[in-house]
Amino acid sequence: MDIVKGNMGWIEVIVGPMFSGKSEELIRRLRRAEIARQRVQIFKPFIDQRYSSNGIVSHSGLEIASGLVSTGADILGKVEPRTEVVGIDEAQFLGESLLECCTRLADSGKRVIVAGLDTDFMGRPFEPMPRLLVVAEEITKLLAICVRCGNPAVNTQRLVASEELIVVGAGGMYEARCRRCFEPQLALEKIEEQAATVKSKAAAS
Ligand code: ADP
Ligand code: ZN
Repeated sequence: MDIVKGNMGWIEVIVGPMFSGKSEELIRRLRRAEIARQRVQIFKPFIDQRYSSNGIVSHSGLEIASGLVSTGADILGKVEPRTEVVGIDEAQFLGESLLECCTRLADSGKRVIVAGLDTDFMGRPFEPMPRLLVVAEEITKLLAICVRCGNPAVNTQRLVASEELIVVGAGGMYEARCRRCFEPQLALEKIEEQAATVKSKAAAS
């Protein structure tokens, strides 16, 4: 952010596919705030306990301590009045109340830094992140590297069979793909394959 006068708060959003460096960038900004001796509070959803239950961890191993919450409303209940900077990772899992939470925190003079996926495994907008982009002062969109061809990757390819919007995982379950290599139907085709195998096994026995 450029020049901010008085005690004005604002919202910074970091979006992109999995492996694009959102957690790394969030941790970098939060560390700098801590070095500047600002009061920082950090949150991530309960649902995301892939690597650590008490910290945000990037795929490259960077880590910073955080509290666990289920919704944006939970965060509002936990942020102390003296806090100057609020960091939130994997924000796409925090539901509708994320929007009001971030708006209220910024309105009350806090710097709010939010990282999350902007699209789901089908390439569709992952609510409520897109709506958060509309109210944010600053947006950073990061890209990963396509594992197939090395081009900039904007998509998260799901490699396992599931139609569920939320399937938490990293190693082997998802990979970064560019727009040319992205196959959004793949996860759905795998479900059909699985169903066909189950059927043929049932018929054989
Ligand atoms: P995000 O929060 O966006 O999922 P992270 O910050 O957790 O991303 O991880 C980013 C790191 O992941 C990179 O610095 C790199 O070390 C690693 N990485 C693994 N696969 C890829 C990929 N396909 N493209 C870019 N980085 C990758
Ligand atoms: Zn590609």
